[in-house]
Amino acid sequence: MTESNYLTIEEAISKKPQTVNLRGWVYRERKSNKFVFIVLRDESDIIQCVISKSKNPELFEKAEKLTIESSLKVSGELKKDERAPTGYEVAVTDLEIVQVAEPFPITEHQSPELLYDNRHLWIRSRKLSAVLKIRHTVVGAIHEFFRSRGYYEFDAPIFQPSQSEGGATLFEVKYFEDKMYLSQTWQLYAEAGIFALGKIYNMGPTFRAERSKTSRHLAEFWMAEMEAAWMNLEEVTEIAKDEIRFIVQEVLKHNRKELEILERDIKLLEHYAESKYPTIKYSEALDILNNEYHMDVPWGKDLRTIEEAKIAEHFKVPVIVTHYPTEIMGFYKPPSSENPKEALCFDALAPEGYCEIIGGSQRSLLVEDMKKRLEADGEDPENYSWYFALRQYGSVPHSGYGLGVERVVQWMCGLDNIKDAIPFPRTMIRKTP
Ligand code: ATP
Ligand code: MG
Repeated sequence: MTESNYLTIEEAISKKPQTVNLRGWVYRERKSNKFVFIVLRDESDIIQCVISKSKNPELFEKAEKLTIESSLKVSGELKKDERAPTGYEVAVTDLEIVQVAEPFPITEHQSPELLYDNRHLWIRSRKLSAVLKIRHTVVGAIHEFFRSRGYYEFDAPIFQPSQSEGGATLFEVKYFEDKMYLSQTWQLYAEAGIFALGKIYNMGPTFRAERSKTSRHLAEFWMAEMEAAWMNLEEVTEIAKDEIRFIVQEVLKHNRKELEILERDIKLLEHYAESKYPTIKYSEALDILNNEYHMDVPWGKDLRTIEEAKIAEHFKVPVIVTHYPTEIMGFYKPPSSENPKEALCFDALAPEGYCEIIGGSQRSLLVEDMKKRLEADGEDPENYSWYFALRQYGSVPHSGYGLGVERVVQWMCGLDNIKDAIPFPRTMIRKTP
């Protein structure tokens, strides 16, 4: 039989032919002395298959050998059956076992650590495959968003000679006889790229040696970044809002079934897809936290997770917070000319406790100020001479931001831990498989 003779389970359920050929894996099995019930799983869905002893004793004997995750091909008659898990049942007329699986190490009620140890097997679970399909939509939406707006895709090196987001989270690697660092961001190279291509974007692997154990940090994650010439802070925050809204809309358009499998609150996502998102200044965020929630956050401190969560909960939609204190921001985030204590930067905070999903800024054109700030961080400005040179040859105002792909997938799927938003997570303590 050729490929075209097989339907996916989803195709079978939607086309409803009288007879079907399916192939997949045993998701569940139940045996009585009259019937074998197999719930067959493939990449698209699950469907119940029944093998009757009285109708076909030979097939019945074969089917009795099937264990969880065994691979098989079945042919049979498709019938509507309200009692079956997805509303349809296949009365099996032929069955080919491809491999009888050994006892599957994952059974019900496993500890999270065992599931991470068996990640190579766990990704086929209904939950994780739903997450991976949503991740596929999120990634596709990001490409579509930027390409449809005239942005060029532009790549930066992963091996980089210096830090850009603070030495504490740098991964140092041996590079021939020398040392280099794994990319913490695409940004510095993107700032060179805009002089060639104007508006650019990229989605790539990003590495940060995060030492604290949180449910929102990975050591290797994917960041979707954009950078554009002639763009100021206010303009770039509007792009960020449009991008977030577009991602939510695309997930709703393509992944209702997966959202249901994950028991995600679809009404909330619909609300995010239709709403406008507010922009407030850091100082206004402090007023809300301190006056309305009786918190005690002094001006000058970065917002902690609980404070970010409160702000997003206050508005119940993603919120843009701008003008954080210059002193606690990266060297490339410029002081505002009206109040140099405030930087022309922003974060986007997602509601429901998911917090920061985007960080961005207008980019500094003040070479002396940047050099001073690097020195204060113990860095040698000499290492950035090519970056500062960009300010010498037709410097223009420009802005950009980075969106954490796994943070957004985590939020879209309603996941407790970011580790479930990527197929094979890497954290300080999770290196395998
Ligand atoms: P945080 O304060 O949460 O550590 P950050 O300020 O270090 O974030 P940025 O440098 O602004 O983050 O990076 C841009 C985006 O990349 C963040 O908004 C977030 O979505 C994502 N991100 C940053 N660090 C991580 C990480 N370790 N794991 C997953 N995503 C991350
Ligand atoms: Mg960080």
